[in-house]
Amino acid sequence: MNGFWVNKKTGLLYEDGNPVKQVIAADMGGEITPQLLVMHYTASGSAEGSIKHLTLKDAVYVSAHLCIDANGSVTQMVPFNRKAYHAGVSNYMGRTNCNDFSIGIEMVNWGFCGAEGAPRTWTGQQLEVTRCMQSKHKNGGPLGWWEKYTGVQVQVCTEVAAALHVAYNLSDIVGHDDISPGRKQDPGPAFPTAEFYASVLAAVETSKAPVEAPTFESGVLATLAEFETRLKRLENA
Ligand SMILES: [Zn+2]
Repeated sequence: MNGFWVNKKTGLLYEDGNPVKQVIAADMGGEITPQLLVMHYTASGSAEGSIKHLTLKDAVYVSAHLCIDANGSVTQMVPFNRKAYHAGVSNYMGRTNCNDFSIGIEMVNWGFCGAEGAPRTWTGQQLEVTRCMQSKHKNGGPLGWWEKYTGVQVQVCTEVAAALHVAYNLSDIVGHDDISPGRKQDPGPAFPTAEFYASVLAAVETSKAPVEAPTFESGVLATLAEFETRLKRLENA
């Protein structure tokens, strides 16, 4: 029971010793060294639909490393050491094409829910006012409704980001709206990126305890690196 852990060899995420659920994306690029974490929302209400959209081979070339549902469940779609197509046209402190050096996490959230009347998703679904907050986006636009992220979702994102930071010594955590301002507004004002950043650093501090090696459930992983690690563990047992 050690929370989240990243296997740097395979770029896969583990929770309490087991790999998280995996639905591998069709759209994936070559090897990257992750330096930046980019937070997104899916603009949807279900992880299932979003994961389908992010993993299918179709005309839309999009993917992300992880999807984190409102209930906190985590699905990995691209290994962290491979390029995912989540940021698009982007610029981080003068470096363009952020997909080349970043990890993208998609949080299931409707995002902007209109400025007039009751909160309503872009698909026309009305949301309870209590599920939303009212704010302007820092990059401009009207005072509008934004769906809140759930407590468990933010907590899981924090723990996952801490594990990523431990593994890759990330240089920064940003929102998609920070690297594609004007074009993108996710994760939006309902996601407090600065507070999130502080929580991640705090979580890194408290996660310094030695991490137990992951267990290898049969049939979960079949990469060569995993196999070699498993052999080593058996030899040392
Ligand atoms: Zn985005």
